[in-house]
Amino acid sequence: MKCVILDNKHKQILYNHAYDQYPNESCALLVGHIQNNCYIVNTAYLTQNQDFSTTRFSISADDLIKCYSLANKKQLEVVGIFHSHTQSSSYPSQTDKKFMELNPICWIIFSYTKNDFKAFVLNTNIEEIPIYENEQTSICNETQFDIINMFSYSK
Ligand SMILES: [Zn+2]
Repeated sequence: MKCVILDNKHKQILYNHAYDQYPNESCALLVGHIQNNCYIVNTAYLTQNQDFSTTRFSISADDLIKCYSLANKKQLEVVGIFHSHTQSSSYPSQTDKKFMELNPICWIIFSYTKNDFKAFVLNTNIEEIPIYENEQTSICNETQFDIINMFSYSK
């Protein structure tokens, strides 16, 4: 069974990012590693929603390249994509599903209206997977969490 390891304090960072960007959708790349079918997140790259839209998001190629190369340097990988829904539940939209096919990693969505985080992977269908907190699991002891704000990188 797949799962995501994301601490409460890490959620708080993404939550703040979602509120900062409101009413537009916010987005971020989540970096870490995959262990025992678990997506372990330890770094968030807060990115700009290039679309500046309330209903969709995209991350610039420039940000993607920077994130992947920074992850590489740390010998980590991009394990997830985060974005927020400002007007709907945290279930992936049809557009999300299309992009999930292109980016077969875990997708974490925060719903502004429901005030919750949910994680999904795409197999044949969209499948919700549980989000666990680091402290409650023995899978990984990492407590360190870095935030890299891509807004400052693009200046
Ligand atoms: Zn979406």
